[in-house]
Amino acid sequence: MLIHQIDRLYTMDPALPGLGEQEGWSVALEGERVAWMGPAAQAPEADEVIDGRGTIGLPGLVDPHTHSLWAGSRADEFRRRLAGESYSAILEAGGGILSTVRATRSAPAEALRALGRSRLDRLLDRGITTVEIKSGYGLDPETEARLLAVARSLDGPQRVCATFLGAHAIPAEHRGQRDRYVRQIIEEQLPLCAPLAEAIDVYCDRGAFDLDESIAILEAGRAAGLSVKAHAEQVIHTGIAAAAARMGALSVDHLERIDEAGIAALAEHGTVAVMLPAAQLYLRDSAPPVEALREAGVPLALGTDLNPGSSPALDPFAVMTLGCVLQGLTVEEALLGFTRNAARALGRTELGWLGIGGPADLLLCSPAPGEALTAAGLVQSIGGARLELVICRGRIARRLVASRECR
Ligand SMILES: [Zn+2]
Repeated sequence: MLIHQIDRLYTMDPALPGLGEQEGWSVALEGERVAWMGPAAQAPEADEVIDGRGTIGLPGLVDPHTHSLWAGSRADEFRRRLAGESYSAILEAGGGILSTVRATRSAPAEALRALGRSRLDRLLDRGITTVEIKSGYGLDPETEARLLAVARSLDGPQRVCATFLGAHAIPAEHRGQRDRYVRQIIEEQLPLCAPLAEAIDVYCDRGAFDLDESIAILEAGRAAGLSVKAHAEQVIHTGIAAAAARMGALSVDHLERIDEAGIAALAEHGTVAVMLPAAQLYLRDSAPPVEALREAGVPLALGTDLNPGSSPALDPFAVMTLGCVLQGLTVEEALLGFTRNAARALGRTELGWLGIGGPADLLLCSPAPGEALTAAGLVQSIGGARLELVICRGRIARRLVASRECR
């Protein structure tokens, strides 16, 4: 298959400066790999030719932070919060994450799988070809393992990375007995879940797990062979970002309240900072210190943080726009944040960029009407970017415009 004459191709090739921009290039795919790429005039023959004129080419997007598997709905809570009720009041009344846990525990695996499939399909519509899925709405050994098994079963056409997040919240039945729940995570959940996951994550924050508990959980996960990630410095500063970086964490995520020492630790250990601007928006929170992270040379990534409460967001392009407007990312940082740097946050450095021999995950997009075929034209507007073609593992997963067919 040849994607021919792409007006502007952002390869995100790490060997090239900026976004690895190329004009008028073609990309030939063979099986699940990029077989060739270069100037259109030199393109090889192909069985199927797709017209790339009038489009922007990108590698398939990578979402490095989602909680895509849950049952139930929190739409009513959205209404209550708009009416002025606080999240803690809702939580006290048995709502919030605990209501999602109740609904998820009682949902059969097939129902969860169908919900997960529908959500991943929506993400694929918007160009996500690799998605991280966290457990964390089970909070008991059996349900956490079930969630991870379902996450793994959703692999294909998208690539799925499963992350164990038994330390998402203290479940209602363990309230007042935190130690017992931390022990359950380490001694009962982890042995069941480690074989089903690539990474372990912890929600270290006020109302969740403290620094010592979080370190113990992450250390146990690392000893079981999992990569390390953390929900870090979101509501209060805990020090988990620096601690996780020292443990060799792939990423620390949120970071609204990271301090200088934390930033220095990320820079020193090459840990990716994953920003989640949709959560910042829904919580009406302040931005992470993007300028300081940038100055320190910390790799910046973005995620949807798709979840039913604080970030019901299914559009990576809208999240890029929010990253720019709410957090001060540049257009280039926003695009790298959902491609190459997001892949790095998952330890999948072969993804998120296009090169010969690399994975055949590729998008053709067009910006809002009247806008130029540029990165800024793509990121500027919410809802403006249109996906003309989504190729995942060398196969056409979405083809939204019939006129792009072969000629
Ligand atoms: Zn999260």
